[in-house]
Amino acid sequence: MVSQNSSASGSSSQYRLSGPVVKCYHNEVAPLRVVRHNGPRLGMKFYACAYWPATCGFFSWVDDANLIQDMQFQILDKDTTITDLDNEVKMLKEENENLEDQ
Ligand SMILES: [Zn+2]
Repeated sequence: MVSQNSSASGSSSQYRLSGPVVKCYHNEVAPLRVVRHNGPRLGMKFYACAYWPATCGFFSWVDDANLIQDMQFQILDKDTTITDLDNEVKMLKEENENLEDQ
């Protein structure tokens, strides 16, 4: 079966491979964490210094809107990867056919 990929043309690929990176006062990447203890903030996400508990004091709640944008970036990245792999498969198939012709 040949799967047809009807992607809309005209969309330029101006998104970047990685989303925005949050850095703490150490100028180190602040990892994304989730509140794990019971309470009103259970499950909420935040960025905090990587050197927990000896942090530099950096702490930032994650804005849900930003998080959604992040995920959209990731989905776009995966789309790009799939297209790239599709092209690679096509190239390899053509190469294979050429080899068989000889
Ligand atoms: Zn820090």
